[in-house]
Amino acid sequence: MEQELLGLLGYPLGHTVSPILHRVAGESFGMDIVYLPFEVKGHCLGDALKGLQVLGFTGCNVTIPYKEEILRFVDEKSDVVELLGAANTLSFRGGRVIADNTDWEGFLSAWRDAGLCEIEGKSAVVLGAGGAADAVVYALVESGVKSVMVFNRNRDRALELIEKFKDKYPHIEGNAYSLNNHPKFANLLKSTDILINTIPVGMFPDTDRMPVKIPKKINPNLNFFDLIYNPGETMLMSQLKARGIKVSGGLGMLVHQAAFAFKKWFGLLPDAGKMHEAACKQLE
Ligand code: NAP
Repeated sequence: MEQELLGLLGYPLGHTVSPILHRVAGESFGMDIVYLPFEVKGHCLGDALKGLQVLGFTGCNVTIPYKEEILRFVDEKSDVVELLGAANTLSFRGGRVIADNTDWEGFLSAWRDAGLCEIEGKSAVVLGAGGAADAVVYALVESGVKSVMVFNRNRDRALELIEKFKDKYPHIEGNAYSLNNHPKFANLLKSTDILINTIPVGMFPDTDRMPVKIPKKINPNLNFFDLIYNPGETMLMSQLKARGIKVSGGLGMLVHQAAFAFKKWFGLLPDAGKMHEAACKQLE
């Protein structure tokens, strides 16, 4: 069986479940996948990418903090990468580097798997304005959301995020607020249909922290998605669940973005269920 080489570029990487996700994906097609995480310092990013190409890698994923910077070294960008200015999946074909982004599709598939509401025509609040928030907002606007309100520690970054989508989606209402604008947040949560957290506060090992306090009055039909996948249930998720709100953690998104990346490389969409099982086992 021929070996297919894949990699992950980021810094720092710490613990990652991506190797197991892709190994399991490959096994279901009888492929021997070797997926190697590489911690790369910023000034070596271009060299590292060239190294993977010349060593015969099929492609690689890119993660924090290089999803934007990597674009300096690619030859082709998909439309979504052009719009978001960030890539998480690179394919090496015919000596060229092709950049794509599968985070947004991964988010949408996980949202549906979790049995959360239809997005079309709904109002949404997004916490955070980094690369993951970009992908989430793209998924929302592509799905016909009615409005997107972004709260971020650095309000200017939230404004920039909203600006990215203004030209292509002028009919969607969007606004940006500072994360500590509690009155606005409390007011919106009384009626908003969708709340999504992309802020890493509450991630392992700081599992007793939350990026925001939940206001007293919230829409009882709110749907909440936390991009954090470790722990499987964040404090924000458990507090909202205790108030009868439908919630989902971020593992499904991680699995589906990996499945879509696999499809970019090999043209085959693997069984996300098997990948999910393997990721759960590893995280345990
Ligand atoms: P990023 O580009 O570094 O953005 C981080 C965001 O979180 C920024 O909006 C930042 O605000 C905010 N933030 C960070 N620390 C904060 C703090 N102490 N208080 C308030 N706000 C804070 O990272 P990213 O790529 O968007 O990733 C964000 C999270 O999503 C991470 O937890 C990552 O693991 C997760 N993620 C999950 C998946 C998945 O598949 N489940 C995929 C992608 C990302 P400022 O702009 O003010 O700095």
